[in-house]
Amino acid sequence: MRTSWGTLLSEIRDCERCGLCRGRLNTVPGEGNPNADLMFIGEGPGAEEDRLARPFVGRSGELLTRMIHAIGLERSDVYIANVVKCRPPGNRNPEPQEAQACLPYLRQQVALIKPKVVALLGKVACRWTLNEEIFITRDHGRWFERRGVWFMPTFHPSALLRDPSKKRDAWEDFKKLREKLNEVQNGKIPPGA
Ligand code: URA
Repeated sequence: MRTSWGTLLSEIRDCERCGLCRGRLNTVPGEGNPNADLMFIGEGPGAEEDRLARPFVGRSGELLTRMIHAIGLERSDVYIANVVKCRPPGNRNPEPQEAQACLPYLRQQVALIKPKVVALLGKVACRWTLNEEIFITRDHGRWFERRGVWFMPTFHPSALLRDPSKKRDAWEDFKKLREKLNEVQNGKIPPGA
C-alpha cells in the first residue's frame, strides 16, 4: 500500500535510520508542488538547509531558483528533494549506507508525486537513482527513461558556482528540461515512450 504524505513526512521527521540524525538541527524532506510534473533531486542538505528545514535555500539554492525562473517556472511549480534528508557533516557526500537508508523516502516521494521529468543535480543524485555509471561532464543533458519517467543528469548548482564556465552547458540542459516538459504536458510524447 502506498504511504500517505502525512505518514511519510512524520517518518522522515523522526528518522534514526543512519548516523546523520545525530548531527541534524532539522530533517529536510523536500518542498514544492506534490503533483509536480518536474522534480529536482540534489544530494543532501547543507548548513542553511539544515537550519531552515528547506532544500536548496543557500547559495546553490539561489542559483537553482534563478534557473527554475529562467525556464518560466516557480519553485512552487516543481518539487525539490535530496537523496539524503539530513545534513552530512562538513557537506561531505553521503556515505553509501546513509544514502541506502534514506532512499526509500525518495522512492516514496517519487511514487506520490509521479513526476514526468526529473532533473538529477550532480553525480550523487545520478548514482542513487539511475543505476549507471554517470559522468556529469559526459552525460549531462542525456535522457534516461525509467518506468515511464524521463531523467536527466545535469550539473549540481554548487559545481556551477565553483566553475561558472559550466553555466552555458547547464543552461542548455535546462532548456531541454523545459522542452521535454512541454512535450510531455502537451501529449506529444507519452511519458516514457
Ligand atoms: N545541496 C544539495 O544537494 N541539496 C540542498 O538542499 C542544498 C545544497
